[in-house]
Amino acid sequence: MKILVINCGSSSLKYQLFDMDNEEVLGKGIVERIGIDGSRIKHEVDGEKFVQDIVADNHTQAIEKVFEVITDEENGLVSSLDEITAIGHRVLHGGEELTESTLIDDHVKEVIKEYVKFGPLHNPANLMGIEACEKIAPGKPNVAVFDTAFHQSMPAMNYIYGIPYEYYEKYRIRKFGFHGTSHKYITKRTAELLEKPEDEINIITVHLGNGSSLSAVKNGKCFDTTMGLTPLEGLMMGTRSGDLDPTVLTFLMEEEGFTPAEMNSILNKKSGALGVSQMSSDFRDLEDAAEEGNERAKLTLDMFSQRVRKYIGAYMAELGHVDAICFSGGIGENSLIMRADIVSGLEELGIEIDAERNNTRKEALISSDNSRIKVFVVPTNEELMIARDTLELTK
Ligand code: AMP
Repeated sequence: MKILVINCGSSSLKYQLFDMDNEEVLGKGIVERIGIDGSRIKHEVDGEKFVQDIVADNHTQAIEKVFEVITDEENGLVSSLDEITAIGHRVLHGGEELTESTLIDDHVKEVIKEYVKFGPLHNPANLMGIEACEKIAPGKPNVAVFDTAFHQSMPAMNYIYGIPYEYYEKYRIRKFGFHGTSHKYITKRTAELLEKPEDEINIITVHLGNGSSLSAVKNGKCFDTTMGLTPLEGLMMGTRSGDLDPTVLTFLMEEEGFTPAEMNSILNKKSGALGVSQMSSDFRDLEDAAEEGNERAKLTLDMFSQRVRKYIGAYMAELGHVDAICFSGGIGENSLIMRADIVSGLEELGIEIDAERNNTRKEALISSDNSRIKVFVVPTNEELMIARDTLELTK
């Protein structure tokens, strides 16, 4: 059975086609600059890449092109769309109503629309992708897999904010959490690595990339997570501020005359590692600059590790017993320096990594034999998780 996975952003669209008989990726690609001059599709099959300039004024045209490319006689992946059983869509926000992956119908689309209020960049794009597929491939089942779903098991004490309760009742203002598909994948994989049933493991999943979040996973279910109503809360990230005293906002809005939209843009796009370092949001650049003695780059990296370390400590306290800490995401999988820095000084808490084992960018146990808590690198695979849920709901 073949499953197509689509991840629609506001101006780009990533796709992967899986053969679910062996969970193999048959091909993948990206349409860039949708609705902007210079749209193009990059398609990859068997390590060979093809780039083509295209017309993609909207998501429907972009998806039409994807279908054309994957059914192309020469470099395509299937001979006709009939070979594809279903399409899985990554959707940012499913709110409180959509707590697990689901087949898409009118009600599901209504909920995705309702939560545009908390996912103004992603939910509209996700919906455009879904509607384009419905139009171009009528009758083909579409499944939505939500970034928020895995976190719906959090207890109210962890998701209710300390503001008047009426705002939760009126607007559903609460912690939702994101990267759920990644945290869920890491949890499933770690249960296999620990050779324990999923509902018997307590772990801390540490997804560090351009966007970063940690989850405290208790008996295989999310108990707490760092992102909130939107993906802005929690860790300081590539360009997002993370946790702040809310007075910072009201002060800046009054003093600088920023509108809510301008303030949002500063906190989401100009803050975090980029804002502090004033040079880059990319951790490779920051690591290189710190190595060359750039003090601000060093401060940025220290701030980042300190915040991750602080949440690891907080989640150890929340979970009581912890079996493993799992690093994932672009930084978590690739930066040996950041991993070593984050867990340094935690030996008294039973966490110690082995320098030689840490010298890896693949799935691996990186803690020392003395470490009470195991530390793993678990490369995430959100697309596979989406394909698995899509298969499950449509087979
Ligand atoms: P993601 O959003 O998961 O793709 O992660 C992107 C982040 O991972 C960027 O900040 C990259 O700089 C970082 N990253 C990727 N490879 C490395 C590496 N080898 N060393 C340090 N950071 C890396």
